[in-house]
Amino acid sequence: MNAQLKEIQVEQVDVVIIGGGPAGLAAAAELYRRGIHNLLVIEREKQLGGILRQCIHDGFGLTRFQTALSGPEYAQRFIDTIEELNIPYITDATVLEVTHERQVTAVTREGMRTWQAKAVILTMGCRERTRGAIGIPGERPTGVLTAGVAQAYMNLFNTMPAKEVVILGSGDIGMIMARRLTLEGAHVKAVFEIQPYPSGLPRNIEQCLNDYDIPLYLSHGITAIHGNTRLTGVTVSKVDENFKPIPGTEKEYKCDTLILSVGLIPENELSLDAGVILDERTRGALVDENFQTAAEGIFAAGNVLHVHDLVDFVSIEAESLADSVAKYVIEGSLKPAAISINTDCNIGYTVPQRVSGEKEFTLSLRVKRPMKDCRIVVRQAGKEVAVKKMKKAIPAEMIRFVISHEKLVSGSDLEVCVEC
Ligand SMILES: Cc1cc2nc3c(=O)[nH]c(=O)nc-3n(C[C@H](O)[C@H](O)[C@H](O)COP(=O)(O)OP(=O)(O)OC[C@H]3O[C@@H](n4cnc5c(N)ncnc54)[C@H](O)[C@@H]3O)c2cc1C
Repeated sequence: MNAQLKEIQVEQVDVVIIGGGPAGLAAAAELYRRGIHNLLVIEREKQLGGILRQCIHDGFGLTRFQTALSGPEYAQRFIDTIEELNIPYITDATVLEVTHERQVTAVTREGMRTWQAKAVILTMGCRERTRGAIGIPGERPTGVLTAGVAQAYMNLFNTMPAKEVVILGSGDIGMIMARRLTLEGAHVKAVFEIQPYPSGLPRNIEQCLNDYDIPLYLSHGITAIHGNTRLTGVTVSKVDENFKPIPGTEKEYKCDTLILSVGLIPENELSLDAGVILDERTRGALVDENFQTAAEGIFAAGNVLHVHDLVDFVSIEAESLADSVAKYVIEGSLKPAAISINTDCNIGYTVPQRVSGEKEFTLSLRVKRPMKDCRIVVRQAGKEVAVKKMKKAIPAEMIRFVISHEKLVSGSDLEVCVEC
């Protein structure tokens, strides 16, 4: 009897999209345009829009809409489309489980609900690395927070979290918060970066640090945190090429707040349960050119797949995914991807990591270190199949280029390398 009841409660849909951020919304709108109307977006927050709701600065949409928008304005364009098309969504609902058979269970305002989907799209975004994740030694006072948490305090809850600030990590969110805190009356003493080059975009170094005379120190790390209840200061040291602190270079900085901008981690706990295989370089799913993961019928895009520097590319990627998912739902399968994409030691990662060789695809990648006047070369069986010339390639900027399938052959992997 119980088993029967459970079966009756399972709702049938063509596609479930987990996460109503820019990736989920772009995928939903595109699926609808392609004729897939029996779909559902599930979002755990009270509103759609994802993390962009708290990104009130401008600079979004330059590629996608050829105009500078704030984060909420950018997200609203997609939310309006969802409303206009009457695409079903539920908010305040957290997905707890996705099975290999594409059954999705969420806790919602009406209680637990389960859907059986033909395809599942993972668009859960990413989370920030914290102090625990990078293991900074020292005391454990209040006043150590990630850049995104500081952003939420200020932009969503109208609360000023800091007066005297030190920032660790030159990620984009940290630099944007350096400017935001300065504009709101805080004093940002410096940004320290452990790498010998900045990890954020050049435009943010210019507009958020240089324009406000905030110094950026490369090859520096924090080696101690001080303060009993509230943070009172940090010890900063220079590091060598192995990121080991150099003895004798310690310097004390008095501050009440340490802001961390030390990287984002794709939110893949659900994906693992569904049998998705992760790429240890991206910490997102291994996918083919259709954004299909190793679990059939389960697709991924946006920051849950790999961390993007610009949201415009998140939307473009999700729209491309929707194209493939629509085909999968209508035809029941996609061409198997038997060609692996391998990289040399200068490439951090590629997405996709394998392709069928039967359709054109966009290759996204990052280089591991800054390089000048180089060529990104894609070869198959020793033959060049695509080349992108770069005056400057830096890890902070994702490189994307289209690869035609016409020169590809089956039975041989693709090799991607950088030649300078
Ligand atoms: C703090 C922070 C600040 C950022 N600032 C910028 C910026 O200024 N400029 C920029 O271009 N990019 C910024 N980014 C990057 C930004 O995340 C991406 O550009 C873009 O928002 C990614 O879209 P997404 O849909 O992949 O993820 P998100 O926008 O993160 O959306 C994912 C959504 O999935 C939902 N979700 C997650 N798990 C579940 C679950 N189990 N059940 C239901 N729903 C779930 C989340 O609540 C969220 O709404 C920032 C990222 C962070 C973390």
